[in-house]
Amino acid sequence: AKQSGRGVLKFYDANMSLELNGTYQLEKALAEALDKNQFCLHYQPIYDAKKSQLVQFEALIRWDHPERGRVSPIDFIPVAEESHLICEIGEYVIRESLEFIQSLSSKATTSVPISINVSGRHLMASGFIEYIEEQLSVYNIDGTLLKIEVTEGVFLHDTELCAEVMRRLKGLGIEISVDDFGTGYSSLYYLKSLPIDTLKIDKSFVKECHDHAEGYTICESIIKLAQGLALEVIAEGVETVEQAQTLIDWGCYQHQGYYYCYPVDEVSAVAMLNDSVKE
Ligand code: C2E
Ligand code: CA
Ligand code: CA
Ligand code: CA
Repeated sequence: AKQSGRGVLKFYDANMSLELNGTYQLEKALAEALDKNQFCLHYQPIYDAKKSQLVQFEALIRWDHPERGRVSPIDFIPVAEESHLICEIGEYVIRESLEFIQSLSSKATTSVPISINVSGRHLMASGFIEYIEEQLSVYNIDGTLLKIEVTEGVFLHDTELCAEVMRRLKGLGIEISVDDFGTGYSSLYYLKSLPIDTLKIDKSFVKECHDHAEGYTICESIIKLAQGLALEVIAEGVETVEQAQTLIDWGCYQHQGYYYCYPVDEVSAVAMLNDSVKE
C-alpha cells in the first residue's frame, strides 16, 4: 500500500491488481484496527523552560498496520472524523491514557498531566461527558491529571452545547487547551465566553519564530494575548534553540517540540519522567 496526500490512502489488492482507493477501505481497516488492538499512544513531553522541568505529556495516537507498517494520524484521523469511528478511536485514547496515568503510580516516582486530542465531533457527541466520568472512576483518576485539546472549529457549531460540555469538563477538574491556535476560521469571541485554560501556538507559526517573518509577529501577538487574558500558552513544534530563546524572551516558557524530545513510547515516557525527578 502506498500513501498519497492527506487523508487518502491507497490500498493495492495484489490478487486483483486493482487499486482500492478510498474512504470505505480505510474505514474498514480502522474498524479492524480497533478490534485487533493495532493502535497505541506515544507521548511527547512538554517542558517548562523556566523550571527546566517536564510538566506534561501530549498523547499522540499511532497505528501499526500489519502490512503497511506505521500509518500517520494525519492520514487516518481526518477520515475517521467523517464517521462515528472517531468516537470509538477517541474512547480508546481516553481509556489508554487513563491506564497510562494509573500505571505511573506504581512505575514512576512522580506524575504529570496527560493531554489528549479530542475531535470536535466526539466532544459534541451525546454521552461524551458521561464516558469521561465513567472512565475516570473506573481507573480511579483525578480529572486534573487529564487535559483535553480541541481545535477552534468546534466552537463554530453548537456554541451552547459546546459551552455546556466544557463547563462539565472543568467541573471534573479537566483543563481545556485550544490546539493549533490561530489556524482555524474562528473569531476570538469564544475566548471570552468559553472556559479555556491554554492556547497552543501552532507549529506553523513557531517555525518562523527565529526571524522577522509573519510567524514571528503572530507568535508574539498570541503570547501577549494569552498573557493579557491570563491564559497559559504552549508553543508546539519548537525545533531550534533560537526558537526556544525567542519564546522565552517573550515570556512563553512551556515548549513542546523536536528540539526537546520526539514523541516516545510508554516505556521511554516513564523513564523520562523518573529521570526528570533525579536531576
Ligand atoms: P497536533 O495535535 O498538532 O500534534 C502535534 C504534531 O506535531 C504531532 O504529529 C507531533 O508528533 C508533531 N510534532 C511535535 N514536535 C514537532 C516539531 O518540533 N516539529 C514538527 N514538524 N512536528 C512536531 P502527529 O503525532 O503526527 O499527529 C498529527 C496530528 O494528528 C495531531 O496534530 C492531531 O491533530 C492528530 N492526532 C494525533 N493523535 C490524535 C488523537 O489521539 N486523537 C485525535 N483526535 N487526533 C490526533
Ligand atoms: Ca497500555
Ligand atoms: Ca494537539
Ligand atoms: Ca498543531
